[in-house]
Order: sequence, then structure tokens, then C-alpha cells
Amino acid sequence: MDYIDAHCHLGSRQYDSDRTDVIERMLDQGVRNVIMICCSRHDLQASLPLRDRYPGFKLACSIHPQDLENDSSEERLQKLNEIITSCHPDMIGETGLDYYSHPHTREQQKHFFIAQLELARRYHLPVNVHSRKASADTLAILKEHPCEGIIHSYSGSVEMARLYIKEGYYISFGASVLFPGSKKPRQVIADIPLERLLIETDSPYQSPVLGHRHEPEDVIRIYEAISQIRNIRIEQLAEAVLANFNRLFDKK
Ligand SMILES: [Zn+2]
Repeated sequence: MDYIDAHCHLGSRQYDSDRTDVIERMLDQGVRNVIMICCSRHDLQASLPLRDRYPGFKLACSIHPQDLENDSSEERLQKLNEIITSCHPDMIGETGLDYYSHPHTREQQKHFFIAQLELARRYHLPVNVHSRKASADTLAILKEHPCEGIIHSYSGSVEMARLYIKEGYYISFGASVLFPGSKKPRQVIADIPLERLLIETDSPYQSPVLGHRHEPEDVIRIYEAISQIRNIRIEQLAEAVLANFNRLFDKK
């Protein structure tokens, strides 16, 4: 079976000592298609050779909304533009708004989000959107700056998911669905069309098990949970999710 991980940080320092083993494990399990999110030079440099080596590995670059505290200069956008023209990423991301962890940089976040959507439009790239406690502003900005892409680690309402889908977005779910108490994502998974659903780990972050370093191969547990919620065979889910992943990148 072919699995995807629509959002992971494979270039993270947390994998520096054993990245090759992590990749071997995921490929062994059938996780052959991933989006590698790079929000730092380190992560980009670690991910670039992987994109060249593995055909299913996509590269996404961006300035993260949580990362504007110390430097929100326009120069950062110029640098991102240079990275796009020299490295040719497959996606812009993750970009968006995080009013939960960084409420005091709201205005800078909006500015950088809009600027990155405009870069995505200019280079005809999809976007990987991070939105926390900011859904109204996220949706308003996406409407004003039409792109396509993914709403990552979705935890909002059914109504909001439908509105994002209407704007051309896929809704991606992470490890939170593994917890029986997570009612909202379960409702959304049951409601949205299968043609709009994606699955991700956000590894090494968002580990479902305390003390366990999250890895892309762990995405299979999330597939299992989602196939139960949708009441379909995991093979059917894997086929649909892979088709969604390919559709997103084939459009370029
Ligand atoms: Zn992430």
C-alpha cells in the first residue's frame, strides 16, 4: 500500500543523527510520498537532496508565523523569493496565522501570510496553511488571495471545513484523531468528501505518545483511525488520499 504524509519536518535537527534510518523505516512501511516543510535554512539544506533522490518527496518552503518575533523585516520575504527561484519548491508552507501561541505578532503574521500567498500565486504553487485560533482571519485572507492547497492539522468545525473546501483547499488531519476525546476532527472526517481529505504527522512535532519522537512512518496509525471513522477499508482510504495528493501537485 502507498501512504502519504502531507506535512512533516523531515529536515528537522531532531533527525540529524539518524535521518537515513527514519527514511528507511517509512519507505519499508509504504510511506513513499511526503511534503517536507522547511522553515529554516537548516531544514531546507537537509531536505533538498531528499527531494532529488525520492520522487514522492515534495519540498515546501516558507516563513513560519511563529517565527516573526525576532525578525519580521521585508528582507526575509526577499530571501524566500530567492529560495523559490533557486530551489524550485513544490509548495509554499507552512504559512498562516497563529493567534494561540503568538497573539502579539498578529499584524506581522497577516502581512507575511498575504505576502507568501502572493508568492504562491506568482509561481503557481499550492500552499500549506497553518491556522490556530485564527480561522475567521485565515478564511478572509484566503478568499482575498485565491490559491489552492492544504489546511494543515485541522481541528476546527465542520462548517469552517466546508468553507475552506469551497475555496479550493484540502483538509489534513494529524495525530489528534487518535484520541477518542477529539470529537471535532472526527465529525469533520465523517462529513467532508473523501476527495478533499489528507493525512499527516507534523513529525517530529505533535507526537501522540509522550516521550516518543514522532516519525512519518507513524502516519499509518492515523490512516487506521480515519478508516474506522469513515467506515471504509484502509486500502480504499489510501487510494483516495494518494489520488488527492497527486491531484494537488499535478495541477502545476
Ligand atoms: Zn508543521
